[in-house]
Amino acid sequence: MRSFSYQRASDPQAALQALAATSAVNAPLTQSPTQPLAGGTTLIDLMKLDVMRPERLVDINPLAGSWAAINLDGNKLKLGALAHMSEVAGHAEVQQHYPVIADSLKLAASPQLRNMATLGGNVLQRTRCSYFRDVSYAECNKRNPGSGCAAMDGFNRMHAVLGTSDQCIATYPGDFAQALIALDADIEITGKAGPRTMRFAEFHKAPGDTPAIETVLAPGELISGFSVNGRWPRSVYLKVRDRQSYEFALASAAVALDLQNGVINDARLALGGVATIPWRVREAEGLLKGQKLDDGLAERAAAVAFADASGRQHNAFKIALGKRVVAHALKKAATMEI
Ligand code: FAD
Ligand code: SF4
Repeated sequence: MRSFSYQRASDPQAALQALAATSAVNAPLTQSPTQPLAGGTTLIDLMKLDVMRPERLVDINPLAGSWAAINLDGNKLKLGALAHMSEVAGHAEVQQHYPVIADSLKLAASPQLRNMATLGGNVLQRTRCSYFRDVSYAECNKRNPGSGCAAMDGFNRMHAVLGTSDQCIATYPGDFAQALIALDADIEITGKAGPRTMRFAEFHKAPGDTPAIETVLAPGELISGFSVNGRWPRSVYLKVRDRQSYEFALASAAVALDLQNGVINDARLALGGVATIPWRVREAEGLLKGQKLDDGLAERAAAVAFADASGRQHNAFKIALGKRVVAHALKKAATMEI
C-alpha cells in the first residue's frame, strides 16, 4: 500500500476547503489525488488493491451531525449522505413507506459492512469487474484510459448487457441506486458555491468513450443527501445472485406501483446487475400505465425492458434471467399487502 496523508474535517466548510486543493485538477474524480473518506469499505479496499492511489484522505465522518439524518416530513423523505446503510434499512418509516429502499439496502453486502457503509459512498462504489480490480491486467479503459478492455474477450459472466460501449462493459454493482432511480429521487451535492440539487437519474454517466468518468460529481464536491417526493408503500426490490447473501446482483429490479382499483396509475421500474449504470426503463413503465397487471402484461413489460440488451460470450444468460426478475418483481409489487 502507498503512503497517504489523513485529515479529519471538522465541518462541511473545512471538508470542502480540504478538497478544494484538487478541484482545479483536470482529471476524473475517481483519479483525484484527494478523496473523501466515509465508511471506507470501497475506498480502502481499492487502495489496498492499488487500484485507487489517493495521496490524501479527508475524513468526512465528523459531518454526520449535519449529514446523517433520516427524516420523513409530510410526503418528503430526506436521507443524509452519511447515514449508514443499516440505519436506513432498519428505519421503521422507511420500511413502511419505502420498502424498495429498505430492501435494496438490506439485501446488500453484509451486516458488518452495512454498519460502516454510508449512502453517499454506496452510490459512488466502483465496479466489481475483476480486470478493473486486478492491476496486473494492463487493459482496462476505466482504470487506465486508452489501454483497452480485457473483459470484452475475457471472462465476462458478471458484465453488463445494457448501456455498454466498445470501451467498457462493466456492471454498476450497487443496489440502493436502483431504488432511488425508481422513486425519481433527487441528490443534493454541496460544493464551494453551496448546495445544488439534481435528479439522481442524471448522476451516473454511461461509459461511452470515457469509462473513467462515472458520475457528474466534480473534484471538490460532496454528496450531502438524497430526497424522495411522495410515499411508495407498494414498492419492492428483488435481487437474484449466485448465493443468498453477501453477494452482488446478477439481475435485480426495483419496482414501485400506484394502483387505483387494481389499475396501474403510475409505475416505476429500474434494473440492477445488468447495466453499466442504474437503469430506468421508461418504455416498460409506459406499457404498464392504465392496465391491470396479469402474467402476460408482466412478461411484455419485461421483454420491453430488455429490448436493447446485448449479451457477450458468458453473460447472455442475464437477458432471460433479468426478464424473469422484472416479471416476478412486478407481480410481487401488485399483490403485496399494504
Ligand atoms: P467509502 O469507501 O468511504 O467511499 C467510496 C467512494 O465514495 C470514495 O471514492 C469516497 O471518496 C467517496 N465518497 C464517500 N462519501 C462521499 C460523499 N458524501 N461525497 C462525495 N464522495 C464521497 N453494495 C451493494 O449495493 N450491494 C452489495 O451486495 C454489496 N456487497 C458488497 C460486498 C463486499 C465484500 C464489499 C466490500 C462491499 C459491498 N458493497 C455492496 C459495497 C458497499 O455497499 C460499499 O462499499 C459502501 O456502500 C460504500 O460506502 P462507504 O461509506 O464505505 O464509502
Ligand atoms: Fe475495465 Fe470496463 Fe473493461 Fe472491466 S469492462 S476491464 S472496468 S474497461
